[in-house]
Amino acid sequence: MSVGVTSSRRPGLGSARATAIHDLLASGKRSFSFEFFPPKTDVGERHLWDALRRVEALGPSFVSVTYGAGGSSRDRTVDITERIATETTLTPLGHFTAVGHSISELRNIIGQYADAGVRNVLALRGDPPGDPQGTWVPHPQGFTYAEELVRLLKESGDFCVGVAAFPEMHPRSTNWDDDVKYFVRKCRAGADYAITQMFFHVDDYLRLRDRVVAAGCDVPIIPEIMPVTNAGQIERFARLSGADFPTELADRVRAVGDDTAAVQEIGIEYGTRMSERLLAEGAPGLHFITLNRSIATLRIHDNLGLRESER
Ligand code: FAD
Repeated sequence: MSVGVTSSRRPGLGSARATAIHDLLASGKRSFSFEFFPPKTDVGERHLWDALRRVEALGPSFVSVTYGAGGSSRDRTVDITERIATETTLTPLGHFTAVGHSISELRNIIGQYADAGVRNVLALRGDPPGDPQGTWVPHPQGFTYAEELVRLLKESGDFCVGVAAFPEMHPRSTNWDDDVKYFVRKCRAGADYAITQMFFHVDDYLRLRDRVVAAGCDVPIIPEIMPVTNAGQIERFARLSGADFPTELADRVRAVGDDTAAVQEIGIEYGTRMSERLLAEGAPGLHFITLNRSIATLRIHDNLGLRESER
């Protein structure tokens, strides 16, 4: 990979077999992938690697690692992504945000990803640390929009770049026309594909896709699914991300109270139904939030009958 950024680290072992996600999508095979986050503790790290090894056996198209709001979790994102590239057969996708970084720091991190053989990066603007709904203040020597990060990645080397898409509109957008216009701009800046925010109504995804196509953009949009495994947690996540949590699903989850196994069964059933419809409607794949646990996602994968060779 040619990278026009400075870095002192040696090339990662995985660089020779780094696969670009846009090539996987272009092959026409449906992509099936998982999102993990960098844990804070040793126990959390063990859960993460346990879950990664389990999903590795399924031959997913890629696995992604989220980027923290600040501090050491950001270094851990790059470290874990590097370990995935060098110690497993998985294709890693490193998330990357512009929050709190000058352009020279962004270049440095891009260099670390490149050295580690990480070719796939998800370029995000990010949200204000502490209060995601607070006022967005760019770093004085940094970027204001994801579009600029996409451009920097594309200028810096042979990266395959993904961006975020919002089936219920980005929470800061005031109307659909602008939302789609700016989404298409970041695609035209070089994004190869998009992954959506979590959502619960398939029609929201389909409407977004239609709007983007109507604006003349054919970038594949991978829907992101978060299986419900914990009632309080999912309602909090839905609130934070602005996703509408369906009344029908909320009522079913509340009806089983603290019975976590029953909540998980409802989540698996709902996630399976959503996934089936999304695939039937031609979604290019499915990206699952795992919260570093694999059980719900593995069960949905089984329900869908998605063996690697059959995708
Ligand atoms: P942008 O595309 O920059 O858009 C932000 C807002 O600005 C939108 O309202 C857009 O319409 C508007 N806009 C864009 N360009 C322009 C322009 N040129 N002029 C005027 N307005 C414009 N956050 C993390 O911190 N870490 C993660 O790992 C992480 N992973 C995520 C993974 C996925 C799949 C998704 C969907 C989100 C993730 N997020 C993560 C959250 C994400 O950072 C926030 O949702 C953030 O607000 C998204 O910004 P963006 O990249 O879409 O920004």
